Amino acid sequence: MSYASVAIVGRPNVGKSTLFNRLVGSRISIEAPTAGVTRDRILYPMVLEHSDSGKVKHFDLIDTGGIGIVDKQHLEVDVEKQIEFAIAQASALLFLVDVRDGVTPADKEIARRLRRYEKPVLLVANKADTAELEDMPPSFHELGFGDVLTVSAKHKRNMPELEDALVDLL
Ligand code: GDP
Ligand code: MG
Repeated sequence: MSYASVAIVGRPNVGKSTLFNRLVGSRISIEAPTAGVTRDRILYPMVLEHSDSGKVKHFDLIDTGGIGIVDKQHLEVDVEKQIEFAIAQASALLFLVDVRDGVTPADKEIARRLRRYEKPVLLVANKADTAELEDMPPSFHELGFGDVLTVSAKHKRNMPELEDALVDLL
């Protein structure tokens, strides 16, 4: 039996590594203001307990490099392979977008790719640093993954809600 896993996917710079580190609770992955830094898949075993139901889930959390990376060192093919592998292996996907940017063409392309896998997808909009951004997310419904959960990985907003949603996703 294969172990459950959740891969964090999304275009570069939306905050995947920051969110990964926030969920893991320590700084394991590389956070950077420039796109394309995370080249390898980074994996961490998680145990989460749902705050209401008390249900416990064990799974590996996987940080991936940004989809659609343009890399000066010509590693993009390898990175893409790693991402595809991570997505293919994962039990479920956390699709991360940036609440401040709204839906971008790259987000739509990633959504198309994710739909092909027919795996559970949790759509999360990061960088909702203020209540205003949290309450008024742009229309992410068009991505086709239902309601969006807004969080701020950097400022630790809605993390308990995200953890519960991950338990429910698996
Ligand atoms: P990745 O390329 O998707 O892995 O993104 P990173 O985790 O490396 O983050 C990219 C940039 O976004 C960094 O400068 C982070 O500090 C910043 N960032 C990440 N999460 C948040 C957030 O919740 N709010 C804000 N304002 N910035 C964030
Ligand atoms: Mg990263």
